[in-house]
Amino acid sequence: MKTAWSQYKGAKMQALMDLSDDYKAFLSASKTEREAVRNSISLAKKAGFKDLKKAESVKPGDKLYYDNRGKSLVLFVVGKEKLEKGMNILGAHIDSPRLDLKQNPLYEDGGLALFDTHYYGGIKKYQWVAQPMALHGVVCRKDGSKVEIVIGEKDSDPVVGISDLLIHLAADQMAKTGAKVIEGEDLNVCVGSIPVSGKKEEKDPVKANILKLLKKEYDIEEDDFVSAELEIVPAGKARDYGLDRSMVIGYGHDDRICAYTSLRAILEMSKPSRTSCCILSDKEEVGSQGNTGMQSRSFENTIAELMAKKGEYSELSLRRCLTNSYMLSSDVSAAFDPNYPSASSPNNNNAYFGRGIVFNKYTGARGKGGSNDANPEYIAKIRKVMDDNKVAFQTSELGKVDQGGGGTIAYILANLDVEVIDAGIALHNMHACYEIASKVDIYEAYRAYVAFLKDIK
Ligand code: MN
Ligand code: MN
Repeated sequence: MKTAWSQYKGAKMQALMDLSDDYKAFLSASKTEREAVRNSISLAKKAGFKDLKKAESVKPGDKLYYDNRGKSLVLFVVGKEKLEKGMNILGAHIDSPRLDLKQNPLYEDGGLALFDTHYYGGIKKYQWVAQPMALHGVVCRKDGSKVEIVIGEKDSDPVVGISDLLIHLAADQMAKTGAKVIEGEDLNVCVGSIPVSGKKEEKDPVKANILKLLKKEYDIEEDDFVSAELEIVPAGKARDYGLDRSMVIGYGHDDRICAYTSLRAILEMSKPSRTSCCILSDKEEVGSQGNTGMQSRSFENTIAELMAKKGEYSELSLRRCLTNSYMLSSDVSAAFDPNYPSASSPNNNNAYFGRGIVFNKYTGARGKGGSNDANPEYIAKIRKVMDDNKVAFQTSELGKVDQGGGGTIAYILANLDVEVIDAGIALHNMHACYEIASKVDIYEAYRAYVAFLKDIK
């Protein structure tokens, strides 16, 4: 089987490995949408990007970012052409499946303090137990101040986690179907076991001790959980995978892997003819709703701001900009897995590790339902640019017909009249605590994004 690896030796191989190392560092430090936005802005600033909100005027060559509530981000490198001629847009999402704390999370049971959670995104719940987990997020106090929390990532930090039943007592559990082995309300995170010391008799002394600790370390009261976004995520860093170090294992590849490679591509754009744009969106895993999700008018508002500051805004110009834009809507794909061949699409219609970026004409479920079905005229344009730039690409279904399915943000931009195709990087273990991707696919995706921003017109 021919793969993209054959092109890589010497300095080219080194560049490929270096990008993977940079990506591993980004992924390890970006376990929430907020952390991904913060780290992306920091990389963008180093590359000369400025805050669009603070810009008084905008001219060709400017590099700008727009931070939407700290949870989604849009970047632009302003082109020589007028914005109504359209943009080349890269889009990916930076939220990942996880366990969110409920609004009243902390309780005590059986001499243990626990956090009650509500899972976010589609998960096989049994994969999320008996693992070291970390706590990331923000707590917003009534006085307007905000506490950032990361516990469980440093070697000296404690971790938390969800227990599973021992095999010795699991006769009833093991007879259940996979969907019921661990249920949503079983995802309770153990956070402590020492009762508070003192003269006062406490009803829940272990819980009281955790509250005392949170007050001391973070100045948080129990009521403050009501206005918090705290996420339980797998603890630890992304690492090389495989004896040959050809792959990366880590939490949150979906979809920070396409987000990071898209970001890297726009960071190196300089004075393009068409404006380059990169969207890093939130809330994809729960349907893209809300004012930080792709369905929000926020993206259109941001383009309107950009046009206004460039002296080109009118409602019609904004509509023309969208109509004349091209987009790669990037999200992860399912790589062929020799452990589960029957779930794959047959006849060379499934993605494989090592064959480069994946283009999906459509995604969806039950007869392409909910999918953007890319126009073949546009796919032909993309093929030409990829071939001209010697980018390795493959095409894929999301597995076998009627085995399941899924959606992306592609249709949302297509509904705004943008020309869109789904693209991305193939994974094993999608939505498990630790997902896996091929380094050569990461590198080819990055090269595909650079080619797309430069050459699509
Ligand atoms: Mn995704
Ligand atoms: Mn997903």
